[in-house]
Amino acid sequence: MEVNFWTDTHAHIHDDEYGRSVDEFISLAYDKNVKRIITIGIDYNDSVKALKTAEQYDNIHAACGMHPEYADKYIREKDYEQFYRLASNKKVVAVGETGLDFYYEENPDEKYQNILFEDMADIAGRLDKPLVIHSRNAAEKTIKILDKVLKKHSNLKGIFHCFDGNMGVVDWIKDKNFYISYAGNLTFKSAENLRQALAVTPIDRLLIETDSPYLSPVPVRGKKNMPANVSYTGEYVAEFLNMPYNILMEQLESNLQKLIKGVE
Ligand SMILES: [Zn+2]
Repeated sequence: MEVNFWTDTHAHIHDDEYGRSVDEFISLAYDKNVKRIITIGIDYNDSVKALKTAEQYDNIHAACGMHPEYADKYIREKDYEQFYRLASNKKVVAVGETGLDFYYEENPDEKYQNILFEDMADIAGRLDKPLVIHSRNAAEKTIKILDKVLKKHSNLKGIFHCFDGNMGVVDWIKDKNFYISYAGNLTFKSAENLRQALAVTPIDRLLIETDSPYLSPVPVRGKKNMPANVSYTGEYVAEFLNMPYNILMEQLESNLQKLIKGVE
């Protein structure tokens, strides 16, 4: 397999509030050899937008789900079925983003976050699509819920997105179909913990992302992020692991193809 491009596995580009059109994002990305983008929904309406955008472009795919920040808005009786139907679409390659976030005190109560996360994981298991996991200050509790859902859906797979470097997670994924995605903050001087985690992340479980519009990598740190910039993170990872760029591109592509079967 010869691969000479990067994929941004996590971006939010379907919302025009980010100031550029999707066409513009795509052409800037192409200039940097970034040829595939997964655009991620954070609640129901936003997920519909993500899907509509993905339907217009061969190289854009969608993830549909609900972010833990909105967990108290999730009503199981009505929302589960809606998300299930939306996520069944073939342009939706993953369920999320979702997860647990106990970083901000004003985030919804843990009991709401648990219900949302478990339901999203259940949908992912039923549809056999990966779960896009946002886990902040919540590694142990995230693993606990995933272990519970894995008992019901042993096929459950997923991506720890914008990985925070938790070593418990690096260990946990090793005998499961879970992947770790590093964002641009890996390149920050202060991110020694992320580099330590990267050094021990199995190479066949590695992915990269921008999380646009947030977290621009060095050398564009501080600017609004966009998928083109995943190339900087890719180059940084390749240099850190002492690999030629194209070998890392091939590895990341093979990882993604294993996780999302038949992704174009
Ligand atoms: Zn995100």
